[in-house]
Amino acid sequence: MVDLMENLALLEAACKNPRAQMEHYLAQGKRVVGCFAPYAPEELVHAAGMIPMGLWGGQTELKLAKSYLPAFACPIMQANMEFGLNGTYKGMSAVIIPAICDTLRCMTQNWRFGVPSIQMVPIVYPQNRKLPASLDYLISEFEQVQVVLATATGQMMKEKSLCETIKIYNEHNAVMREFSNEAVKHLDLITPLVRHYVMKSAWFFEKSEHTAIVKAIISGLRELPSYEFTGKKVILSGITCEPDELLKILKENNIAVAADDLAHESRQYRTDTPMSGGGGLRRLAMQWMARYGCSLIHEDGKPRGGIISELCKKTGAAGVINCLMKFCDPEEYDIPYVEKDIRAAGYSCMTMEIDSLNSSYEQVRTRIQTFSEIL
Ligand code: SF4
Repeated sequence: MVDLMENLALLEAACKNPRAQMEHYLAQGKRVVGCFAPYAPEELVHAAGMIPMGLWGGQTELKLAKSYLPAFACPIMQANMEFGLNGTYKGMSAVIIPAICDTLRCMTQNWRFGVPSIQMVPIVYPQNRKLPASLDYLISEFEQVQVVLATATGQMMKEKSLCETIKIYNEHNAVMREFSNEAVKHLDLITPLVRHYVMKSAWFFEKSEHTAIVKAIISGLRELPSYEFTGKKVILSGITCEPDELLKILKENNIAVAADDLAHESRQYRTDTPMSGGGGLRRLAMQWMARYGCSLIHEDGKPRGGIISELCKKTGAAGVINCLMKFCDPEEYDIPYVEKDIRAAGYSCMTMEIDSLNSSYEQVRTRIQTFSEIL
């Protein structure tokens, strides 16, 4: 139990102070590359011997970013721009920006001019994933990322190390899925906030290090008897569910997170990279073609609502909270379909706006309280 609590505290500390994690790696002589949310190909960074770190915004007061972004850009990108401009990311060798939505497309240009001290590496993913040409196109994008990264950092990856990295990432995916399955049996200990720390901290560790810590947490949980949770269980869906105060409000209302469909959390671990089918870059491209259930990825038939309903059934969740990122067009387009399918499957559903730059939670507290009563 002591080890379990120590490991959970370690991950919480990384979430509360990612800068300290970055300093830790820089002190070891490692280069750190920022990976914009979501789907930057961090395997290419890892395989070149560098540390990829997730950039998912945070709580800050906007002062400088307003000169670059309109007020209707999402809070994640507003915060990332502010951190880039005010020096919070100083020490990073480069950032990778996947131009996967309109805001991210603008970010590539804003970053290039606003933060010239940190090299920006863009990547454009194909949305028509049925054409064989899309695979070749994505491989050429990865090659381009490799070249620009190598020019900025002097570190070039080798095919052998990419294959090793893919194994490390697949193992990490599996361990994170295992954690999610185990966590739901210990909802006394794995509160919404603790669960979030385990998931979020993955963005601030070298992946095999994170795998080792989460494996130890899973072992610790397995030594404990299962806990019979008597409150309400929900699934969280969306881009992120932050800041911490929101998750505390869930706990206050005796609501536990049974599983999630957040781009920041479990969506990252849903799809492994195939272990055969060509070289490392080709297989990474195949992983993109196999991803599903995300508002940022074009799919016929919009299966996300069905996927979430299945999660409810599997975990015993009574309902779903859609965490709708403020000003996020891809999510706004998805929500009507998602809500309709979830309700048709017989589950309750509420949508709450996520704005990590906001510091007032009374409205959302009332909404969650009401939702807990109808669950
Ligand atoms: S997908 Fe949504 S949350 Fe992510 S960068 Fe684009 S607008 Fe922001």
